[in-house]
Amino acid sequence: MTKGTPSFGKAHSKSHTLCRRCGRRSFHKQKHTCAQCGYPAASVRKYQWGMKAIRRMGAGSKRASHLKSVHQRFKNGFR
Ligand SMILES: [Zn+2]
Repeated sequence: MTKGTPSFGKAHSKSHTLCRRCGRRSFHKQKHTCAQCGYPAASVRKYQWGMKAIRRMGAGSKRASHLKSVHQRFKNGFR
């Protein structure tokens, strides 16, 4: 007995969880691989056909919570 249609019931199970390297919810829990960055592979998964995806991965492309304050602290000589 399912709530809703049988195909809707599959939407409740989470196959992926947060990846500790890229932070996305792309880490497959049963396969133990990240669909985004390939973790636990040593090299980060990226392809030349995905230039936009590579552009979004670099430092400063996200919130950059630490990097933002570095500029201000540099001005004061890291006192
Ligand atoms: Zn990842």
